[in-house]
Amino acid sequence: MNTRGRTVIKRLFASTNHGIAIDLGTVNTVIHVRDRGIVLNEPSVIALETIGGVRRVKVVGDEAKPMMGKTPANIQAIRPLRDGVIADIDVAEQMIKHFMAKAIGRNGRFGRRPQVVICVPSGSTMVERRAIQTATMNAGASRVQLIDEPMAAAIGAGLPVTEPRGAMVVDIGGGTTEVAVLSLQGIAYSSSVRIGGDKLDEAISSHIRRHHNLMIGEMTAERVKHAIGSAIVPVDGGRSLNVKGRDLVNGRPAEITITEAEIADALAEGVGQIKSAVMSALEQTAPELSADIIDEGITLTGGGALLGQLDQALSEHTGLSVSVADNALTCVAMGAGKALEDHAYSGVLTTA
Ligand code: ADP
Ligand code: MG
Repeated sequence: MNTRGRTVIKRLFASTNHGIAIDLGTVNTVIHVRDRGIVLNEPSVIALETIGGVRRVKVVGDEAKPMMGKTPANIQAIRPLRDGVIADIDVAEQMIKHFMAKAIGRNGRFGRRPQVVICVPSGSTMVERRAIQTATMNAGASRVQLIDEPMAAAIGAGLPVTEPRGAMVVDIGGGTTEVAVLSLQGIAYSSSVRIGGDKLDEAISSHIRRHHNLMIGEMTAERVKHAIGSAIVPVDGGRSLNVKGRDLVNGRPAEITITEAEIADALAEGVGQIKSAVMSALEQTAPELSADIIDEGITLTGGGALLGQLDQALSEHTGLSVSVADNALTCVAMGAGKALEDHAYSGVLTTA
């Protein structure tokens, strides 16, 4: 073989080997690199600093999240994807660029720009898909392919998406809950509702404000949810927890004690919306696929799937078996990585 031929082969080899998969979530960004697995899992937060009228990136991810709600006037710590959609594409691009650099390592083993597969919500329009694809190219990719999030979640959870067998996956993220039925590498049904971890956090804050006259921050509300949040109201009040915030009456810092039962009450409406989304998906699924779902059950992914007793609540509501995927928080990125590596899944990758 001549030198040119060898170069071509080398290039092909490089482009198939050095693939990275990005799950750009509203709360967390997770990156999978071929042969290395999950290399990055950080909050989708970026802190921007304005000096002399010029805005530049200060820090991203783990370093930026603790700044939320605590920044001086010239620094902004923001979540560019807050409501399940990209609020600010330029800022999102900066974030992707920083995360990609971090995942690869600045002088990493990638001599060239990496091939990237990035996840998109299945309800994304063509315009949104093109925007994220362009942003990822601008962030330094050599080639960008897209994968629908529920498909990536299902592959990551090990569901049989290449077979003529229906599988239902419910991915509960920060901004949205996506319910999908997959079969033969395609999406037979999908719907997205604007309920996720963020709304549950808000429900906790507003409950504590109304019933205890205490203002708490976003991060405190999330900590309460992780510690004692539950989808089923415990009969005996359950566990209790101390929470600090600002007293709305006298303005002073204050601490109160709350119970698992009251938090479950506060979460009931949001949990109800998740239940309804699953029910309407089941109602709209073709009978042959429904039969498969009876056998296979429902798989929950995303951080929201970790809410206490959510699997049980959904199982009681649907009469089906419901399980939380292993690695619920990383399985979307793992599935996208697998789709990039394994040709059996090539049919699930698209371009806008
Ligand atoms: P996204 O894909 O939108 O980035 P994730 O799948 O990373 O979202 O999930 C993030 C959400 O999961 C957050 O709202 C977070 O509070 C929630 N979460 C993570 N762990 C738990 C837990 N143990 N209990 C309840 N919610 C959780
Ligand atoms: Mg997600």
